[in-house]
Amino acid sequence: MRHFILILSFIFLIRIANAEERISAPPTNGSAIQSKVSSVDENVPVPVPEPSAKAVQRYQSGIVLWFVRVVWGMALPVFLLFGGFSARLRDFARRIGRHWYWMVCVYFVILMLLNYGLNWPLRYYMGFVRPHAYGLSHQTFLKWFTDSLKGLGLTLVVGCLFLWIPYLLLKKSPRRWWLYAWLAMLPVFFFGALVEPVAVAPLFNKFDSVKDKALEAKIVALAEKAGIHGSRVYEVNKSVDTKMSNAYVSGFMGTKRIVLWDTIIAQLNERELLFVMGHEMGHFVLGHVVKGILCSWFLTLVALYGIHITAGVLIRRFAGRFGFDSLSDIASLPLIILLVSLFSLVLTPIGFVYSRHMEHEADRFGLELTHYNHSAAMGFVKMERENLGYPRPGMLFTIWLGTHPSAGDRIDFFNSYKPWEKGEPSKYERYFGREKQ
Ligand SMILES: [Zn+2]
Repeated sequence: MRHFILILSFIFLIRIANAEERISAPPTNGSAIQSKVSSVDENVPVPVPEPSAKAVQRYQSGIVLWFVRVVWGMALPVFLLFGGFSARLRDFARRIGRHWYWMVCVYFVILMLLNYGLNWPLRYYMGFVRPHAYGLSHQTFLKWFTDSLKGLGLTLVVGCLFLWIPYLLLKKSPRRWWLYAWLAMLPVFFFGALVEPVAVAPLFNKFDSVKDKALEAKIVALAEKAGIHGSRVYEVNKSVDTKMSNAYVSGFMGTKRIVLWDTIIAQLNERELLFVMGHEMGHFVLGHVVKGILCSWFLTLVALYGIHITAGVLIRRFAGRFGFDSLSDIASLPLIILLVSLFSLVLTPIGFVYSRHMEHEADRFGLELTHYNHSAAMGFVKMERENLGYPRPGMLFTIWLGTHPSAGDRIDFFNSYKPWEKGEPSKYERYFGREKQ
């Protein structure tokens, strides 16, 4: 999937949070939790839980694995470039494809198959063996394998459909391609973030109305209070293939929708769930999807220009070894992949700072909307415990992997943020109870 995005847009670097986000927790026995909800005292603080030994091990090995993945992801393009294999692959693709467009396709397909094969052991370990070893997945091997093949198929189709566009730009405008590519990417970003959840996601899962009608009514009432009018609530039957939980608000105008995976309904009690919905509604009302896209788009400009300059220097220096002397040569694809990886390593942390800020504001919105401080914190305690979370990660983790504030920071905030108790105004109350626009 990473390469699908990468190749499609050339530089889809910064995956900062958007409306759809993972809450990450396996289901628990919901019926035991549902009782006594009404008697909760929302003023009782909740201590940040200590991670179990297993959670500590998962956190530490996760950082090592992240490092291995980054290094391995750069090793293959380096090998292809400096060994001259990329140029040889281009020559082969030219003989097979004849026409320029087909040459690009043949080169791309072979490169991606090679990449898939060489990455397979690491992908299998990280995507299948590891989550099962920690009891975080019950996906069958067949499902995992067919999903990974589907991802590969999608990569090949999308690459063959779109890869010629940036290469044509490189050919026609070697000095300004990065600017045109940047402009062309804005619609791609918007399509990905706004249209995909509404038009593509239902192709893969069944979106039904929420079975618990009382819960549905409460969510709709909360949405109305948050100023989101006329939205529909959907329950997605995800428990068949994952233990993870998720909830999000997406779409716009007629396609506005609140989506809950059935796993999160089973896991959290009503107040915990309503806080999560309040948080998601915060993303929607505060326009975080659009802000996230614009942030990514801006960072993309920096990356594209950086790639343009760096690639020029490297090609001048190593053209003999690479076997190509222009970025518009399809043999340059591993060089572009390598530079995308390097620049995203530098720029992703900037995007994540902004993402953590938006997540914090969505938490604030959710608290102001519901006043469920204790329930919000309890929901996170449950998710941390059952998902083997690490509530207070170190700086390395936060910089490169922290899309959200740490669970520890979030629980601290839930415990302490109550401006309404002191009669102080809430930051977002102006949005509450707004009439239909
Ligand atoms: Zn969020």
